[in-house]
Amino acid sequence: MEYSEIVRRQKEYFAGNATKTLEHRLETLRLLEGLLKKNEAHFLEALEADLGKSADEAFMTEIGIVYEEIRFMKRHLKKWMKAKSVKTAMTHLASKAWTIHEPYGAVLVISPWNYPYQLALTPLIGAIASGNTVVLKPSELAPKTSDMLFQVLSKFREEIIAVVLGDALQTTKLLQEPFDYCFFTGSSRVGKLIMGQVAEQLMPVTLELGGKSPLIVSKDADLKLAAKRVAFGKWLNAGQTCIAPDYAFVDQQVYDQFKQELIIAIRELYGENPLENKNYGRIVNQAHFKRLRSYVDGIQMDEQTLKMAPFLLENPDPDSSVMQEEIFGPILPLYSYQNLEDVLRFIKERPKPLALYLFTKNRELERKVLFETSSGSVCVNDTLMQISTPYLPFGGVGASGMGSYHGYQSFETFSHQKSVLRQPNWLDFGFRYPSSKWRGKILRLIFK
Ligand code: NAD
Repeated sequence: MEYSEIVRRQKEYFAGNATKTLEHRLETLRLLEGLLKKNEAHFLEALEADLGKSADEAFMTEIGIVYEEIRFMKRHLKKWMKAKSVKTAMTHLASKAWTIHEPYGAVLVISPWNYPYQLALTPLIGAIASGNTVVLKPSELAPKTSDMLFQVLSKFREEIIAVVLGDALQTTKLLQEPFDYCFFTGSSRVGKLIMGQVAEQLMPVTLELGGKSPLIVSKDADLKLAAKRVAFGKWLNAGQTCIAPDYAFVDQQVYDQFKQELIIAIRELYGENPLENKNYGRIVNQAHFKRLRSYVDGIQMDEQTLKMAPFLLENPDPDSSVMQEEIFGPILPLYSYQNLEDVLRFIKERPKPLALYLFTKNRELERKVLFETSSGSVCVNDTLMQISTPYLPFGGVGASGMGSYHGYQSFETFSHQKSVLRQPNWLDFGFRYPSSKWRGKILRLIFK
């Protein structure tokens, strides 16, 4: 079907108001949950084929998060959908004011390849829970998962959820359609292009982008635990995680010790030979494999299986490409620092990151880092865990994106907050009209 026809039908269906009711939203979420559970084994196979993800890792980082998001929406939706009364000003005596969260209409969701299930479905769930219809454009670089999404979601009427497969060309075409909202997850480079395209239609947009997320290890950190949690967050999905720590600054007093702990943790988590480990993912494709290989010499890798082992890169030149581009792979640059001020300056001189990680027990230091730096999120004494609670909004700032979602924040994102004011008929202040000779005096009395 032509894209224009899909969007026309979705908009027509939306205009009939069906998707706005609580019943319709819940029914769609229930149907989605059922379909995803029924096809769980197929999705696990697809994720294994696309990215070499083990079933446990895929369940933890993709499937389980999606189930939890659906459950969360079902549990809270009724409460969120209630109109919210707000106060009125002195000038609005006896009026009533409230806000209503209304859906935008037809939403376009564009998703990337690294968590191809979760990053397609979590925004979709938010859009559906908020009463919208959705056209999903999953990534062409995770073809098995995208095909499964296409097949499974085709059980829905296209007026409610439609999946369009394709690459940049198809996405560009889709963006010419009159969607009411665009939710994009992907690189900052493409994010800029998307923003340019949606600007043509003044289409509201959320951009969930990437960047280089710094990690700071202070001398008072629990080094063993820190190393284990860094090894988990950095090498999950072979480093292809938007919020993975990209590079690390370690206090020089504990630098050697932390490095040793990190080497031990890598061995504990991924074994002596990570290339043979079923629980260690692979690089998505040849192009990314080549890009990563070009950053460093001596990295252990297997070109046949596209597997690349964890690699610590000590003290690279900050102007080299590994420190200029988002790494998005298993290489972790390590620097030692003497003075925290230098680290904070380094971070602040660069584009605002999606996440920042800090390992410390010192609350004063924590407060200082939180106060002085800007990032989409911060996680203290762990990595990645800030993303997996539906109670925290997730999103970037500056170059790492705009807008956020997850849980209630998804409801906010995919709804327009409509202000309503109802005036009383029995009260009508005469002084506001131009015929009133008291107008100037009374207004000055009120506002001065
Ligand atoms: P990408 O920007 O290349 O592609 C994302 C989507 O945009 C895909 O569906 C793709 O088909 C489409 N696309 C690609 N080029 C396009 C173009 N010229 N015009 C229109 N659409 C186009 O990103 P990717 O390589 O799939 O994903 C990796 C990037 O995504 C990394 O930068 C990573 O940090 C970021 N990311 C961010 C988050 C987040 O939540 N903030 C999550 C995962 C990944």
